[in-house]
Amino acid sequence: MALLEVTLRERGQPAFRARQVWEWTARGASGYDEMTNIPRALRDELTSAVPFSTLSVETERESRDGTVKTLFRTGDGHPVEAVLMRYRDGRRSLCLSSQSGCPLTCTFCATGTMAFGRNLTSSEILDQALHFRRVTEVDHAVFMGMGEPMLNLDEVLAAARRLPELGITHRRTTISTVGWLPGLRQFVHEVDEPIRLALSLHAPDDELRSRIMPVNERYPIADVISECRRHAETTRRRVFVEYVMLAGVNDTTEQGRALAQLLGRDHFKVNLIPYNPWAASADGKAGGARPNTPPPAAGGLYEGSSRDRIAAFRHELERARVPVTVRLTRGRDIEAACGQLAAAPKRDRRAALAQTR
Ligand code: SAH
Repeated sequence: MALLEVTLRERGQPAFRARQVWEWTARGASGYDEMTNIPRALRDELTSAVPFSTLSVETERESRDGTVKTLFRTGDGHPVEAVLMRYRDGRRSLCLSSQSGCPLTCTFCATGTMAFGRNLTSSEILDQALHFRRVTEVDHAVFMGMGEPMLNLDEVLAAARRLPELGITHRRTTISTVGWLPGLRQFVHEVDEPIRLALSLHAPDDELRSRIMPVNERYPIADVISECRRHAETTRRRVFVEYVMLAGVNDTTEQGRALAQLLGRDHFKVNLIPYNPWAASADGKAGGARPNTPPPAAGGLYEGSSRDRIAAFRHELERARVPVTVRLTRGRDIEAACGQLAAAPKRDRRAALAQTR
């Protein structure tokens, strides 16, 4: 966008041109050529001077359930994945990445095993959404792809604030965090829009949470929960709590009761997530997009809880009147489900970099 504005100004174009370009783009135009209220010569100039997207598509895979996972590259060769989920009721939901890779090392998540690249710019975040907007109308977005949004909050918010023009209102936008307190505090203090907050909790006590999510050593449960509770109180909207169900680790009825007691019935809504295997999957690979990738070391650590266990856990929360749902798993066959995003071994990045030089 900045480059677009500069380019237009340099060519002595009126200020409304940038707006016109954005409006076409937000409504799904696939290039400058479609922007018929912009003079032909200017369209041609823009085509050569301002790349239409900051991302290039490397691979795209479609699941049996209609979920699409796209692997993009940034201009400097970093891999980024995003997912489009299509539901039977017509909902079209985007799962967007805030970073290439992730510096955190949650033990159950594939993204943490790949090399951390860098924070994405707001344009790189928005361009993920625009890619899918060219294919279909979209109405929901979750910042639950690669990366920790609260480590890159300014860029995430800049992108989220433009989503309504693509058809995704703030009420249908969710930003998910491990509970990175500096960013979480900034979010709670700064964000006036009704953007939904989600917390990846996954354990009812510090001892267990630190074991499966090292970030908990730094920002323990009590501090994170109290910040979330404050947010729920001031906005009068529940914070979503994500809880991935790991067999024999965090799925007992006692832990269900402890979770209910920790959260209380007024401020949170729990979303139980069936564990999505990655390294331990049938073909032994994380990321899926690349054949011949050696499996990462930690992936086979866990097994998902059985349906019965999930039902019993859910029952404990319901008994305590804590709102709870079980997440529908989408796109598992193409490694597009929660925690399965992990793209591209380093050698491919080097090849991509070599190309751009
Ligand atoms: N870093 C942010 C944004 C990513 S959200 C966060 O963690 O909240 C991705 C969600 O998928 C998180 O709730 C994460 O805990 C969950 N997840 C990670 N690995 C998973 C797996 N293997 N199966 C199911 N869910 C997983």
